[in-house]
Amino acid sequence: SVLNDSNSTGGGVQLRNVCKTFGGKAKALDGFNLDIKPGEMVVLLGRSGCGKTTALRALAGLEDIDSGQILVGGHDVTSVPVNKRDMAMVFQAYSLFPHMTALQNVEFGLEIRGISKKERRSKAGEMLELVGLSDQSNKYTSQMSGGQQQRVALARSLAISPRVLLLDEPLSALDAKVRVSLREEIRRIQLETGTTTLFVTHDQEEALAVADRIGVMNDGRIEQIDAPRNLYQRPKTEFVATFIGLTNRLPGILQANAGEALVLGQRVPLVPGSVSGSDGDSVTVLARPETLGVSLMQEVESVGQLQGKRDDSSAGALATVVAIHFLGAIVRVEARMQGNESGRRRPDDVGQDQTITIQVPSGDLPRG
Ligand code: ATP
Repeated sequence: SVLNDSNSTGGGVQLRNVCKTFGGKAKALDGFNLDIKPGEMVVLLGRSGCGKTTALRALAGLEDIDSGQILVGGHDVTSVPVNKRDMAMVFQAYSLFPHMTALQNVEFGLEIRGISKKERRSKAGEMLELVGLSDQSNKYTSQMSGGQQQRVALARSLAISPRVLLLDEPLSALDAKVRVSLREEIRRIQLETGTTTLFVTHDQEEALAVADRIGVMNDGRIEQIDAPRNLYQRPKTEFVATFIGLTNRLPGILQANAGEALVLGQRVPLVPGSVSGSDGDSVTVLARPETLGVSLMQEVESVGQLQGKRDDSSAGALATVVAIHFLGAIVRVEARMQGNESGRRRPDDVGQDQTITIQVPSGDLPRG
């Protein structure tokens, strides 16, 4: 292929200022920029319709772009056709040949590349071993579970040693348990083979679990790209913060100099760098449900006492429980607090219509 003359590892993948519009509608990609380092796994995370799949398909060459540039290993591939880009793709749908065995499916990709039968057989066997399916190689893929079929699809993709592996919601069709174990497998194999990978998902936990870096997409571009921990702890915009679980919006008064805000009668340290404004400004503080404390009203003797204690740890805001969602390991409490919605995960010791107090124990992100 056109890429084989390059000195293979350098450069990774770059998408520069890529724009794509479908038939006069809003831009699916609107000045999209992404830089994937060699051997890196980048996950594009975002809501349905934000342009994730379009970005991946543009990189693959399955979608012509209106403007911008795509580089692989430092080479401009913007006008290189899909079959010359040295990329392999795994989709949500298994897209295997049901009348072929696992081994034949993996061999197929090598056959169309003109690899000899002996070499095909040995490479396919090696790949099936990599994905943990050595003992299933002669089974028809139509007789395999969804998870096994995705392993075969992965083996088939990796058999050709692609420059870039593209994974488009590869786990979405699988049940929750298989999804978790297979994403760990994908990450292990990706690290083991050192394959430069772009993984598209709308599942936040999946992104956090597998990525070297996560790019959160919004309206056709990446709003923030960062290592999972940084993204989770230091979201740079309100959109990103909300997307990764800072879903409670609480009113606060900024104490800019101290890097704090007064929230629900309590001083709360703010994420460094997230503060802009001056002392006394009204701000909105974003908090994760799991950081909020909830107490039953009986535990606080009276509202008067509560108000008198504004500055100590039992301070909080009164709220009425609107709904309780039992989710197994966690219980999500939805409560109404002076018109604001709030949620908190805790064991189920509160009931509907009960009055509770909500406290904020420690720092989150202010906006306002
Ligand atoms: P999903 O997770 O639902 O697949 P996505 O983030 O991958 O969403 P895209 O599939 O990239 O989003 O779509 C981005 C936008 O482009 C959407 O508004 C979509 O309707 C539009 N779009 C995508 N493909 C086409 C197409 N072939 N023709 C017309 N519009 C399209």
